[in-house]
Amino acid sequence: MAKKRKMSFFSSIHVKIATVFILLLLIFIEIVGAIFIRGLEKATINNFETTTNEQVETLAANLSNDLTSNPIKKRDIQNRILDFTKNNIIEVRVIDNKGLILATTDVSAQANLGQKNDYTDLNELVTKHKRSLDKRTQRRIYVNVQPIYSPTGDAVLGAVYVKSDLESQYEQVTQTALIFIMASLIAIVICLTIAIIVARQITRPIDEMQKQAKRIAQGDFSSKVKIYGRDELGLLGETFNELSDRVAEAQDASESERHRLDSVLAHMTDGVIATDRRGRVIIINEMAQLMLNITGEKAIGMSILDLLKLRDHYSLRSLLEMPSEVIVDMPDATILKADFSLIHHESGFIGGLVCVLHDVTEQEKNEQERRDFVSNVSHELRTPLTSMRSYLEALNDGAWKDEQIAPEFLKVTQEETERMIRMISDLLNLSRIDSGRSQLQKEFINLNEMLNHILDRFDRIIEAQKQPYRIVREFTKRSIWLEADSDKLMQVFDNLLNNAMKYSPDGGIITVHLLETHNHAIISIKDQGLGIPKKDVNKVFDRFYRVDKARSRSMGGTGLGLAIAKEVIKQHGGNIWVESKENQGSTFYVSLPYEPYDEGDEW
Ligand code: ADP
Repeated sequence: MAKKRKMSFFSSIHVKIATVFILLLLIFIEIVGAIFIRGLEKATINNFETTTNEQVETLAANLSNDLTSNPIKKRDIQNRILDFTKNNIIEVRVIDNKGLILATTDVSAQANLGQKNDYTDLNELVTKHKRSLDKRTQRRIYVNVQPIYSPTGDAVLGAVYVKSDLESQYEQVTQTALIFIMASLIAIVICLTIAIIVARQITRPIDEMQKQAKRIAQGDFSSKVKIYGRDELGLLGETFNELSDRVAEAQDASESERHRLDSVLAHMTDGVIATDRRGRVIIINEMAQLMLNITGEKAIGMSILDLLKLRDHYSLRSLLEMPSEVIVDMPDATILKADFSLIHHESGFIGGLVCVLHDVTEQEKNEQERRDFVSNVSHELRTPLTSMRSYLEALNDGAWKDEQIAPEFLKVTQEETERMIRMISDLLNLSRIDSGRSQLQKEFINLNEMLNHILDRFDRIIEAQKQPYRIVREFTKRSIWLEADSDKLMQVFDNLLNNAMKYSPDGGIITVHLLETHNHAIISIKDQGLGIPKKDVNKVFDRFYRVDKARSRSMGGTGLGLAIAKEVIKQHGGNIWVESKENQGSTFYVSLPYEPYDEGDEW
């Protein structure tokens, strides 16, 4: 699953855009404000000083007349300077050229009129403009000293001293600055709002694209990015939608390709496993799951070495370096052949392994059976031939002259030869059946009659040879007619009856039972002989299988009788089986398909 990425509020683009916008605005306001306020302050103060200077000069000119009148009209001077004292003027003082105070607007200094001036600035009676700090009020002030010249301009009559309040000018500038700051703040708020709106406009399509990309990642191609305009972001949005269509098409194509591959894999009769380059299973088809008896969920992600239980003999490197054929023995006795091949990427790198599994159990079994058969035949033929050779050697060495031994030796040699001929004819029979060359010559036979005929023959032999056997017939009353190859069936029953006698050395009763079910005729031959050990019961129908080889041979057995019987009964569509207990006798059963007929049936 894709990792969930969370974006912090401060890292979002529109916060960044708004912040940069505001910072730029602040820097702009800061610089403009500083220049503006500085300029305003300078202009205001300069203007104030220039105006004050001019006014003080005019005042000094006007006072010139007052000071030339004789006597000096102090009252007029006082009134004139009182008229002058307005707005920002703090104090006006007039002195004569002797330094005596003629008039002052300072109420507290009225007592000093006519006394010596105490302002140092007035000592020299020369023009002076200066900014200073009022020590008492701690306010900034502007001091003007203007000499008063005689109307003719050749004599200095005195001087006028004007102290103005500069602080109020500064306050005016501060007021303006405050208004400027307020305006700037409002501008910032407005700009911030605009910046957020603009940033939103820019980032909204980006946001949508990001959400759409997320949906695409989750496989949902249904929605589209909304296009807000024909700008770069609009074009990007359109391209994004096109991209999403292309991805959807590609996804569809690969999906249907995958389905095709899935159905091919699902319907394959071979098992297919694909791994990544670390040997971990990424694909396993149903057949492979069935063969390995594992579910897909369990197998996916497993190492193929563990899945096929090859870890003890192979390493992943050996499979990758020399992918070849491996035989896998499954615990349920099935044998699988695993063919490995490599998956190569276009770049040439190895992308993983493909393993195709074939079930070769049957093939291997047949192969094994063939090998066993050849070894059995060779063995079965070599044994009598070896014994015959030794008899013939003995005869050759002079035993032929012995009238007692020679006939005995020749008899054994003849018996062995006959047994070998029997074995070979049995083998030929089997081979004909195996290859399908032995066709049944079917005819309608009466089973009761056929069995009676065989048993009568055996009864005669038993009687003639005085053998310790008694055959008991327990037949159904009903005549059982069925379609069968009578010669071959007779061979089967001959063999079963022979065996019943051969493996009952102490004689006994041999019970032959014939009964019918609704669709089968069942014949059983029961003896009271040696029986068959439990472990061998299922094997007596195998070719050359004998519980006691020596006994079978000595009785002229080939070990093929029951194998032929089984094939013949199979050819008839029937079944043959045995129930036996060691030392308590055996019962061989033969079931043959049979259709009971009604008395009225024409057949
Ligand atoms: P054989 O030629 O050895 O008799 P068969 O195919 O007829 O070969 O029988 C296979 C083996 O089955 C015999 O060797 C014997 O061990 C066992 N067998 C067959 N019939 C009987 C029986 N009635 N009682 C006990 N063992 C039997």
